[in-house]
Amino acid sequence: MKEADLHLHSRFSDGTEAPAALVARAREAGLAAVSLTDHDTMEGEAEAAAACEALGVEFIPGVELTAELGRQEAHILGYGADASCPELAEAMARFQRARQERIREMVRRLRPFRIELEAEQVFALAGCRAPGRPHLARALVSAGYCADAAEAFERFLGRDKPAWAPKYRLPVEEAIDLIHRAGGLAVLAHPGLSGVDRAIPRLIRQGIDGIECFHSKHSPAQAERYAAAAREAGLLITGGSDCHGGAMGKPTMGQVRLPFEHFEALRRRLAERAALRA
Ligand code: AMP
Ligand code: FE
Ligand code: FE
Ligand code: ZN
Repeated sequence: MKEADLHLHSRFSDGTEAPAALVARAREAGLAAVSLTDHDTMEGEAEAAAACEALGVEFIPGVELTAELGRQEAHILGYGADASCPELAEAMARFQRARQERIREMVRRLRPFRIELEAEQVFALAGCRAPGRPHLARALVSAGYCADAAEAFERFLGRDKPAWAPKYRLPVEEAIDLIHRAGGLAVLAHPGLSGVDRAIPRLIRQGIDGIECFHSKHSPAQAERYAAAAREAGLLITGGSDCHGGAMGKPTMGQVRLPFEHFEALRRRLAERAALRA
């Protein structure tokens, strides 16, 4: 039976692996289709697409946009979006500038603790345009200020800890709209982690196309509940591991295996949208 993993992170955001290495691992895990869904960037797309082509894995472009629903953070997955769409490209550039500025702010907030880290060190270690707290955590560890990343989050970087700084987020309706303008489908990522269940009807009115029902941090009961809600509303059902490589605990590739029929339904819906626009 063919299966897909439609939620993967590479070193272009907060994952540890290069896109080609991720794809090779997906192939070894027996997955027939993948999507690379880095946070707020699609820089890894070309490498992932080429690796998929070479290994006979089906590929769909992806991105995970950081959005805001009321006061909650919600993540919106975009599938099949064209990264060269000017509005989407501009928004991703804005996200990346804001993420870099946020690292500078967090580095400033570490100064009172006599932590002499430079933002440039964090950028060099991250090696990507969309750096986040995991990179700052690694910088704190490699400079000897913390024993491990968990300690860095516990003492400094966790929500409401002294060096935490807010992240730039798009209003959720703008994130959905941007993905649509770029010809993609917008999917609510891991609702079970975001606590946004009550907003699902509103998201449907705003044009969300699907719900990520299967996720490594959703229980089987949650997955079933979201799948029932998606079916009832005629939404796509998606799923993925949200694998970050070795960065955040255990690698999770292969833990979530989306039945292929859902991947095919996603592709069909994309083709229908493209036909409507033509
Ligand atoms: P950012 O997007 O910069 O806010 O970073 C979010 C990332 O940090 C997520 O991918 C989380 O997995 C990771 N993260 C959040 N809290 C912790 C924690 N307590 N320990 C380790 N990683 C964490
Ligand atoms: Fe992440
Ligand atoms: Fe997410
Ligand atoms: Zn993710």
